[in-house]
Amino acid sequence: MEQKKNGTWVSWNENLKHDYKSLYKVTTEEELREVIANNDKIRFFGNKQSSADIAAGTAALLDMKSYNKIVSYDYNAKTITVESGVILGDLLEAIEKVGWCIPCLPDINTITIGGALATGTHGTSGKLLSEYIASCRLVLADGSVKEINKEDNLLNAVKVSLGMLGVLSTVTFQCEPEYTLHIKERPENDNQWLPKVQERLKKHAFLRILWLPHTNNGYVITGDKINPDTEVKENLGPKFLKHRRTASKILYKYSHVFPWITAVANKLLYRGFFSSKKEHKGSLYQATVTKSRGSTLELAEWTVGLSKFPQVFAELKEEINKWSNNSFIHIPMDVRFVQKDEAWLSYAYNEDIVTMGCVSRNAATADTYEAFKTVENIFLKYGGRPHWGKRFAAKDAQLTKIYPKWEDFKELRAKLDPTNKFLNPYLAKLVNAKKAVNAEKVTA
Ligand SMILES: Cc1cc2nc3c(=O)[nH]c(=O)nc-3n(C[C@H](O)[C@H](O)[C@H](O)COP(=O)(O)OP(=O)(O)OC[C@H]3O[C@@H](n4cnc5c(N)ncnc54)[C@H](O)[C@@H]3O)c2cc1C
Repeated sequence: MEQKKNGTWVSWNENLKHDYKSLYKVTTEEELREVIANNDKIRFFGNKQSSADIAAGTAALLDMKSYNKIVSYDYNAKTITVESGVILGDLLEAIEKVGWCIPCLPDINTITIGGALATGTHGTSGKLLSEYIASCRLVLADGSVKEINKEDNLLNAVKVSLGMLGVLSTVTFQCEPEYTLHIKERPENDNQWLPKVQERLKKHAFLRILWLPHTNNGYVITGDKINPDTEVKENLGPKFLKHRRTASKILYKYSHVFPWITAVANKLLYRGFFSSKKEHKGSLYQATVTKSRGSTLELAEWTVGLSKFPQVFAELKEEINKWSNNSFIHIPMDVRFVQKDEAWLSYAYNEDIVTMGCVSRNAATADTYEAFKTVENIFLKYGGRPHWGKRFAAKDAQLTKIYPKWEDFKELRAKLDPTNKFLNPYLAKLVNAKKAVNAEKVTA
């Protein structure tokens, strides 16, 4: 096992930095168990791509990325077992090779399986990624391992648990036969796309809307399952479209100084990059997941019950279009749809939901981005829930109101981790574990 002493942990977008005393890299479950058992306080991280401060901040850290083997396939059951440090893109390529897929994918392939599951990572038109867990092995605070399968009630608590109940060791995913999607993309006025959401969710296998704040328009992406041999006349739009993120970065460069620049930039970006139609086909992974990003971002994302979305949307639009406040929002706000489940800390616990992203393309100035606060206030008012891996300010007092199973989760966490081994200061505040907050001040 590799061990580094005394360094600084820095998150992907460089907004979070923590000094550590020991950093471990493990390659086997035995090593993973040993490190957990032998440290009083420890956090573990994947690709460090979360904006929330949930992956480090303790004296001992564990880098999960070297624990990354594909363990086995069960061809009859269509399951694959992997170590939790596997990068999502590697898992998806491995299952595509045998003709399988996971039907709901996030728009990022560089994250680890452990990080993705811990934070309730999702795509659109399906369930959270964690709903495709068939079984998993969880290393508990004392270093013992608990094998959890679908019949076990504990799975609904563990599926989305921010690494507060234990460290996921290996995970077995239930896959489905791969399918081909015919993707169509086009701009649509808010008055057109909003009333059609429910109808489109029934009609299409894939629905995603990139909402373009301050333009009154959205960019609608639909996908229908087709026979892989069906001919689709590919139209990927003008070649310059691939420079959208760079153009955004340039146009938003001074938007933290003059937030209103955002509204002007959005209108230009809409005309330049979101006004053409596109059409293509491919697997869910190949046709819809972004494979490379030139620059970093700071992200927030809120979710709300599908039935409440039109009201939330109207209020949000009214608020951010007021020139009297500084809540201008960079393009796009990603609108996606997730089906209900029973995982305790899932955004979709017991109800179908809409998720809405909020991005600051200037990661370094994210603290001054008023939009994060405005979006949070509006969604909280409607019982909305924040993405665990992204930026939000809500803590225990608010979370207990919006997650029916929050108190049960806290009780289970305290039972499984009685010494608060897995809590950093941020997580301790989140679950209101006061003693741990004080203890952590020494090491943070
Ligand atoms: C550009 C970008 C696009 C994104 N797109 C989406 C999207 O489409 N949909 C979506 O839902 N989210 C999205 N996210 C959020 C992202 O999926 C999460 O932040 C995810 O947690 C990042 O994975 P990671 O490997 O970087 O994990 P990290 O940020 O390193 O860790 C996240 C959490 O997981 C815990 N953890 C890591 N490994 C394990 C393990 N083995 N067992 C238990 N806990 C573990 C860590 O302790 C930490 O609490 C996006 C983020 C970015 C930056």
